[in-house]
Amino acid sequence: MHTLLLNSFCENLNVISACNHCSYNVDFTYNFDMVRYCTLDHFILTGMLFANCVQTVSVAHDIGNTSDHDLLLLHLRLELRYVSLDKKERSPHPSWQKANPAQLGNYCQTMSENLASLYVPSEAIVCRDPNCCDSSHYDALQNYVAGIYVAVI
Ligand SMILES: [Zn+2]
Repeated sequence: MHTLLLNSFCENLNVISACNHCSYNVDFTYNFDMVRYCTLDHFILTGMLFANCVQTVSVAHDIGNTSDHDLLLLHLRLELRYVSLDKKERSPHPSWQKANPAQLGNYCQTMSENLASLYVPSEAIVCRDPNCCDSSHYDALQNYVAGIYVAVI
């Protein structure tokens, strides 16, 4: 069931699960009381990353890990030519350490008002279709996220 949903999800978004890579060496990522084992954790990659950058996909069964999920490890080989070494331009940004209590209070009040004025797309939020193709849901969630971003800055 989950495999079919994952495959369908990847196919719809034109991405590939790292579990399809030839280097994939994972027996399980989740255990239920060390009785039942399954692979619930995945890396999802673009086709370019999948084909050109994946070196290994493995799991760490660390005895010190108290979670019922184990660490899924993805090793990528990335070309440095894609990483910019140019000096970054600095732009002004708030300094929380330098703000006084009145400024912090004003920020909190303004943010609360901005968030309260946002339209909450309830229908899109409660949609449980992992393969949802309703563009109104996608647009509503994108607008909601953008609204939250603007409200907190
Ligand atoms: Zn939907």
